[in-house]
Amino acid sequence: MDYEMPVTGTDIWYYYICQREVWLMKHQIAPDQEDESLDIGRFISETYYQRNKQEISIGNIIVDRIRREDGQIIIGEVKKSSRYLKSAKMQLLYYLEQLRQMGIQAKGELLFPEERKKETVEWTEEASAELKKTIGDIRLIARLPVPPAPKKIQFCATCAYREYCWAEE
Ligand code: SF4
Repeated sequence: MDYEMPVTGTDIWYYYICQREVWLMKHQIAPDQEDESLDIGRFISETYYQRNKQEISIGNIIVDRIRREDGQIIIGEVKKSSRYLKSAKMQLLYYLEQLRQMGIQAKGELLFPEERKKETVEWTEEASAELKKTIGDIRLIARLPVPPAPKKIQFCATCAYREYCWAEE
């Protein structure tokens, strides 16, 4: 039987930021532990509110909120910033997809209280097809013998792999 490499919500999130980072994480290349700007720490503090006891877990999925509106289940994630909106949307879509596999048809909501903004994430055939392609791409990236070449992006400035990628600079 073919082994299907597990893909996580975090993999999905990084796929839309930096595919090289997906490879590095999948190969368990340790980021620079001394680096105070360790990106995961930053990512959590800049992007998410501190998780609290209110969070809800459904299988492997942990979300901030769940409610029912007109019979529709809505799962919500509260974020500090909409800077990485595509990543956040696709990660939430991945949770919606997983819920569907459990027989739960839900909608998603991204809440940005500091920006007084709300984004709805809906499962559609089209969105699901994009997600499936992304999951396939992540598996292909992980199987590459060497990581994709680094590309300078804004995220590099706070990425814990920046020494690894840009040591000669
Ligand atoms: S430093 Fe930049 S290119 Fe390297 S893994 Fe991080 S985001 Fe990607």
